[in-house]
Amino acid sequence: MNAAQQAHELVDIGVNLAHGSFRSDREQVVQRALDAGVRTMVVTGTSVETSREGVELARQYPGRIFATAGVHPHDSRHCTEATVPELPRLAGSPEVVAIGECGLDFNRNFSPRPEQEKWFEAQVALAEELHLPLFLHERDAGERFCQILESARKTVPAVIHCFTGRGEELKAYLDLGLHIGITGWICDERRGRHLHELVKEIPLERLMLETDAPFLLPRTMPKRPKDGRNEPAFLTFVLQTVADCLGKPADEVALATTKTARQFFRIKHLEA
Ligand SMILES: [Zn+2]
Repeated sequence: MNAAQQAHELVDIGVNLAHGSFRSDREQVVQRALDAGVRTMVVTGTSVETSREGVELARQYPGRIFATAGVHPHDSRHCTEATVPELPRLAGSPEVVAIGECGLDFNRNFSPRPEQEKWFEAQVALAEELHLPLFLHERDAGERFCQILESARKTVPAVIHCFTGRGEELKAYLDLGLHIGITGWICDERRGRHLHELVKEIPLERLMLETDAPFLLPRTMPKRPKDGRNEPAFLTFVLQTVADCLGKPADEVALATTKTARQFFRIKHLEA
């Protein structure tokens, strides 16, 4: 592989490929991503069921698709004591490269806060036990979120996925040593403009890219699909906006974020 090809290689660190909207054409979606240079995808697990589906999907694309295993704060109200042994069983699969997505969401409070906190703490402890990185979600819960991470996280790396916050939150996360995941939110001229400045404050070795597909279709796409569904191939639009904000060539940002993602998730390089 020559350097130019390698420069275009991307890792989508957060894609909900187990989502129902991909049921009928998942193979084509994966193929389009690979063709667009998105050579590695990490499928987000949000519950025991979707984590299991992610692992099954990863097994169909060895070395290309990986999975996280975890319970989203919205789903924590469905957690029972039976969930605790299920997650490590899943997380023991070689396809699982992180614990999550887990965290706190005090914006919509779909699950009661004490439940969210309990299961967040349990998953941080699990990540430590298994020496796996953490894939984190946080909305309107910054203070409590940082407290829990500070007390429960010892050594494992962690990424805040889909960062959409303000400067003081970014600073708090960077001070905690976290990595930052940027989605197509940055391509949204209505609500993502503040990220154009903030992204410059993220060191390249802590920055990673994600689509969060099928959600968050990049609004910078010249021709957007009518159904509004996002897919991993569109990660190139997130890359382009981030590169424009940083004033760097897209290749350079691709190379750096891919290297960061591979190191973070300990994913080996595969030849095209
Ligand atoms: Zn999330």
